[in-house]
Amino acid sequence: MSNHLGGEFCLVCGAEPPLFGDRMCEPCLRARTVLAKVPENVPWVRCARCGIVEIEGKWEDTTEENVWDELLHRNLVVHERAEDIQLAMEPVKVSDRHTLLHIQLEGVIDDLLFQEEHTMRARMANGVCLTCTRRAGNYFEATVQLRSSARRLSELEFQRLRGTLDDVLDKLSDDPMFFITNEGPVTGGYDVVLGSKGLARAWGRHLISEYGGMVLETNSTVGRKDGVDVTRLTLLYRKPGYEIGDVVQWRNRLWRPSAWTKEGAIMERVDRQERTGATWRDLESASVVAQRQDALEVDFITEDTSVGEFLDPNTWTMASVRLPYDHLTGRRGLLVRHDDEWLALPHLAVDSPANTEAQA
Ligand SMILES: [Zn+2]
Ligand SMILES: [Zn+2]
Repeated sequence: MSNHLGGEFCLVCGAEPPLFGDRMCEPCLRARTVLAKVPENVPWVRCARCGIVEIEGKWEDTTEENVWDELLHRNLVVHERAEDIQLAMEPVKVSDRHTLLHIQLEGVIDDLLFQEEHTMRARMANGVCLTCTRRAGNYFEATVQLRSSARRLSELEFQRLRGTLDDVLDKLSDDPMFFITNEGPVTGGYDVVLGSKGLARAWGRHLISEYGGMVLETNSTVGRKDGVDVTRLTLLYRKPGYEIGDVVQWRNRLWRPSAWTKEGAIMERVDRQERTGATWRDLESASVVAQRQDALEVDFITEDTSVGEFLDPNTWTMASVRLPYDHLTGRRGLLVRHDDEWLALPHLAVDSPANTEAQA
């Protein structure tokens, strides 16, 4: 190489080969090349209220280790020809706001190994994230109204319904708008005010899949901002107040839901053999007359073709009841109170001994 025609030499100092990269000798190349550049100070923002961190314009709930990694990868500029880069970083906290990030790195440029050490100062600034800003301003996008049809639910039942929102929040991603602005019991139900329409809808779907019933959506325009209508969503969920086997008044007759369908329930008439499918909308007008769990099981002491006699456990006197259309001699009676009288129910699958035991 040294006898090469034209005589190659370092463009900077005139030294003999070997030459690297842009025709420089090793000392000249090293003097003019850095493996990586890092800024002296790098700012980052943490929400003073909730502690989440802004990364590239997005607020995220993350650890300080991740913040250091993120700052490093965002601010470290490595030589364009560098290969086989190895990185190590050690954070040293100097104060609440300042952390020194000591960086060791090595890499190969034009077959020469470079090793460098750098220090970057991460400077934390306090901010207020979008969620906290909106929370502080009582921001909300949607109201979910929990109600019931056919029967008024107890406070405990409403609490159980409200509890399913926590399950939904656990399953969904960390959207900063998935927060509760306000909530509390109202006459005949429970209201939850939410920061996100998406969260309200996800919860509505969850309630329907868990408890049946339906959701009524109302959108209202509350103003305009930046040329776009600002709308609020009201989502009314009515939980059916009846369970399989309950007795409900519906279309002026007594019925018992015997099974759920996708859109409603299979209804069985109490006074004669008749079965029909009903949608949740159809069933909006239903009201619960008696719950299956309160039904009384009795042994008939005497029975003829239409009437059975039994000992009323409330009064310890003999009472009689009209037997159901499907009565079999010797079968126990399943009775509920209706209009101050006893009413004997025809049997559904839910009433079979196995199911009764399973429920008990
Ligand atoms: Zn040189
Ligand atoms: Zn915050």
